[in-house]
Amino acid sequence: MKSITIAIDGPASSGKSTVAKIIAKNLGYTYLDTGAMYRSATYLALQHQLNAEQVPEILELIRANPISFGQTADGSQTVFIGDQDVSLAIRQNAVTNNVSWLSAIPEIREELVAQQRRIAKDGAIVMDGRDIGTVVLPDAELKIFLLASVEERAKRRFKENQEKGIAVDFERLKQEIEERDYKDSHRAVSPLKAASDAIVFDTTGISIAGVVDFIQEKAEKIIDRK
Ligand code: C5P
Repeated sequence: MKSITIAIDGPASSGKSTVAKIIAKNLGYTYLDTGAMYRSATYLALQHQLNAEQVPEILELIRANPISFGQTADGSQTVFIGDQDVSLAIRQNAVTNNVSWLSAIPEIREELVAQQRRIAKDGAIVMDGRDIGTVVLPDAELKIFLLASVEERAKRRFKENQEKGIAVDFERLKQEIEERDYKDSHRAVSPLKAASDAIVFDTTGISIAGVVDFIQEKAEKIIDRK
């Protein structure tokens, strides 16, 4: 069967990773969470008390400590830096609230984008992020840009955080999501935006299964035509 490349972009907590993971599993494709890569790089920088002025040091750390992915027995994604499991650590507030400055640094994006393209080189991949359709995989056969109201996205993230045992106040979470969206869409390099050939889909009020069906139907049509 022919395989394709699927790019799923969108703002914070728009449901990208949840649906991307399911679609990858259904199609037997690799799933790549690029947000987890920026989060891991931020975690490394914070651990070493590095800031935006210390780009060469951060780059050296990223190159010396490869980011990789695994899976638990129940199928949830795990993230490693070297052999350290950072799956939970990279979701903590300190990382979430610092990831925007690090991801705005061109040299760091260049390094992580190169890693992402290497992982995608054989196709059969579902990749989610902010710049996948515009920069990382401009030739992806299917590009989706997911939207949802801030209120709904904050509710989703609140529930997710509660399940992971991460304490957070709802109003604060909402404000942080808005701030992160603003920073991600206004940065000079690879800002969050829909590719001109992306299908923009507002998921407000739509179930996960509904979003998965919508994307998978489009993917299957493209695969059938190949
Ligand atoms: O997807 P997630 O919310 O985990 O992403 C965390 C952060 O990583 C985003 O807010 C953004 O600053 C950065 N990011 C990025 N480009 C990507 C994926 C994530 O700049 N492709």
